[in-house]
Amino acid sequence: MNIKRVALTTNYNGAVLNRANNVYDPTDLVVTVSSAATCGSGKQICVFDQDYGNNNLYGWVACRAGSSGANPNRTCEHQWVRFNLAYTPPSYQRLACHELAHTVGLRHGTETASCVFPNIAQATTSALTTHDRAHINARY
Ligand SMILES: [Zn+2]
Repeated sequence: MNIKRVALTTNYNGAVLNRANNVYDPTDLVVTVSSAATCGSGKQICVFDQDYGNNNLYGWVACRAGSSGANPNRTCEHQWVRFNLAYTPPSYQRLACHELAHTVGLRHGTETASCVFPNIAQATTSALTTHDRAHINARY
């Protein structure tokens, strides 16, 4: 999990670093976090925040390049995480945890005690469950 924070504002810069170090690094993932002015290319997760307008999304993940395989085993080498500054999320930490979960293949679940619960306003945590971590550790 190679995360590059691309000119993030303070709230998302801190939340991404915090969740990477405290939620994802303790799993079997190898986590690196860096900052840069531009995204560049290669196998990485570039994280951006901008005012993307009123699209009803706090954030989302897209595959920029290097997609292979088919669902549910599709992989993507170069991903973009977008945080929408048009909205203030219920929790920056929870939203960062949520979008980073998608980058490692976790889909929306039914456990409110997971940041991958689809409605982050109703999720009760900014962390992953034992179940989420088991999926990550099985894959990585
Ligand atoms: Zn989601």
